[in-house]
Amino acid sequence: MGLKKFNDFPGRGTFSHGIHPPDNKNFSAENSIEVMPSPGKVVLPLLQSIGAPCEPVVKPKQKVEFGEMVGKGMGFVSASLHTPISGQVQKMSVTTLPSGRHLPSITIKAEGEQVSGRELFDDIIGGIWPKENIQDYFTDTISKAISDAGVVGLGGAAFPTHVKVMPSDKIVIDTLIINGCECEPYLTTDYRLMVEAPDAIITGALLAGYAVSAKEIIIGVEDNKPEAIKILQEKSKGTDIRVAALQTKYPQGSEKQLIQALLNREVPLGGLPGDVGTAMSNVGTIAAIARGVVREKPLTHRVISVTGPGIVNPKNLLVPIGVSIGEIFDFCGGLTKDAARLISGGPMMGFAFSDLNTPVTKGTSGITVLTHDDLKREHETNCVRCGRCVDVCPMNLVPTRLAMAARYKNVELAQKYNIMGCFECGCCTFICPANLKLVQLIRTGKAQVAASQKK
Ligand code: SF4
Ligand code: SF4
Repeated sequence: MGLKKFNDFPGRGTFSHGIHPPDNKNFSAENSIEVMPSPGKVVLPLLQSIGAPCEPVVKPKQKVEFGEMVGKGMGFVSASLHTPISGQVQKMSVTTLPSGRHLPSITIKAEGEQVSGRELFDDIIGGIWPKENIQDYFTDTISKAISDAGVVGLGGAAFPTHVKVMPSDKIVIDTLIINGCECEPYLTTDYRLMVEAPDAIITGALLAGYAVSAKEIIIGVEDNKPEAIKILQEKSKGTDIRVAALQTKYPQGSEKQLIQALLNREVPLGGLPGDVGTAMSNVGTIAAIARGVVREKPLTHRVISVTGPGIVNPKNLLVPIGVSIGEIFDFCGGLTKDAARLISGGPMMGFAFSDLNTPVTKGTSGITVLTHDDLKREHETNCVRCGRCVDVCPMNLVPTRLAMAARYKNVELAQKYNIMGCFECGCCTFICPANLKLVQLIRTGKAQVAASQKK
């Protein structure tokens, strides 16, 4: 029960390789979650998860109420979409996301009174959450409620959550891991949730653990977040949940590395956590599970950090999905004069974008704004064969070879060197003294492999 010393877990509390970038969480870590005022409109792309897109279930001019389903997930791996505001459906449009994808989208113009402020906060993550009688729920009822609520992985992966917590005869899960590492620099979304909404996280963890029949539930938090560890330790008293304080290192929060750090189990290359008896969800997802199951309410809002030296007033915000990032910047006092790069997510794994009309989606874990000073970078030189990229790669790949294969469009070589095992953590680019844009090249190489497989 509660916080255990690391030797109470099979893992070492850390993983092999990785880096220690400055965490820069000071911009927003101490700012409590504020509720963003309800916007005049929201734009909801019909694909906000891995898997199949939604089909619209509303028509232009139709009136919709807060929380009503507007897009139905088609297929097993898909997530339905619900409106975060009451209003009127406009004609369909196309939205470009920071990833570069162009997606058909439903726009809803606000009409009438909206739920907001403290009432909204309490409805979504506040108030009282049960810790007892979790067994009163049927396991398949839990996964159906999660599916009905359109919950996806809120750590950025956006995998439909009901698929992960579906009871299965084929996969035996002994350990549910709740990921509270938030190792990406700058972002403080999960940190604020752990500090301000621990009860929702504990209830969601108990529900998800029960649904997958896990014997163990472990919340993993990096040791640069002692307040979150303390609060979760306190709140998990009387339950079977354990809290593990992990060494702070990037990318501790990626699935394979966290499983290694906690349980000393190796997920095979190309494998999934289920292959080693584990399931994993991030703390935000877990809180959304609690709301979907206990309150039977859909995922309409999420917490994001709006942070970095390029933001006048960095904040942690509870925002409606579909609100434009430009509107969020206005609420944060705008951009500083030297703001130079907008990133959806954090600087290591996020996507740069420039269109302020870009909407927040379910997978938007935060917005980081960097300045010209942050981007000062020496020119690229030739590889000096120092081997540092190999030393830091948490997947034991040889980044310099992968980058070369991509540069010369050599798909066969890229596959031979396991390019698809790269999850684009950016450690190699961060460490390279020749300033080679390794991860960008590898991303291109992965696209080349994917394209070759479609032929
Ligand atoms: S090769 Fe991929 S997994 Fe390895 S360090 Fe570079 S980006 Fe990370
Ligand atoms: S870190 Fe950069 S310079 Fe060193 S081996 Fe890798 S690619 Fe070459």
